[in-house]
Amino acid sequence: MTRAEQVAANLARVRADIEEACAAAGRDPATVTLLAVTKTWPLSDVLTLAGLGVADMGENRHQEAAEKAAETRETDIRWHFVGQLQTNKARAVASYASVVHSVDRERLVDALAAGARDAGRVLEAFVQVSLDGDTSRGGVAIDGVHDTAAAIAAADGLRLAGVMALPPVGADALASYQLLAEVARDVRRLHPGADGISAGMSADLTEAIRAGSTVVRVGTALLGGRPPFVG
Ligand SMILES: *Cc1c(COP(=O)(O)O)cnc(C)c1O
Repeated sequence: MTRAEQVAANLARVRADIEEACAAAGRDPATVTLLAVTKTWPLSDVLTLAGLGVADMGENRHQEAAEKAAETRETDIRWHFVGQLQTNKARAVASYASVVHSVDRERLVDALAAGARDAGRVLEAFVQVSLDGDTSRGGVAIDGVHDTAAAIAAADGLRLAGVMALPPVGADALASYQLLAEVARDVRRLHPGADGISAGMSADLTEAIRAGSTVVRVGTALLGGRPPFVG
């Protein structure tokens, strides 16, 4: 099997898993976006996925994301930034990303908004929520979500898309994503258009969809185990 055939087979399985999870949850599969997380994988894999109809791609490091975005400028791919983001790189990220999933502080809001305005575009921004309050992997604690959401909603150049979370280490995935769904409901009370929930990865997309996820961020199940980080 060629690499492209392998990726196509993986994609078919992931799409089937999403459909099955939606059927089990009584949801329309059209309400769940598959975001392919292509970090560490070559541009050829990005182009394979794009050729198979995947429109949304995610990266977690600025340099790699910027390179891939530049190389795909002529395509319809929408780039999503899903990783922890340093404030001094935010302006640059805003020049190529359509969506940022990891907004967790007001200085980042200001920098992303400035970058989006410079680029003459509107950037979609998710508040990353730290469900267990351990903010070392990014995310704002639940009691800070409203302030961050309000800052995004008020920022010229940004659109508040909703909330995002990673499951806390060792926590039950379904319970974690149900908690995120509660946070999402609270945010929507003040910001009705912010109806996105970015939740679910290769290992737990079924639980995430059951809890209401609208964007699953899938890497390993599409592209395989990542090579160890070299840097
Ligand atoms: C890498 C990554 C993913 C994808 O994880 P897999 O387990 O490979 O599917 C999702 N979200 C974020 C924030 C990531 O960094």
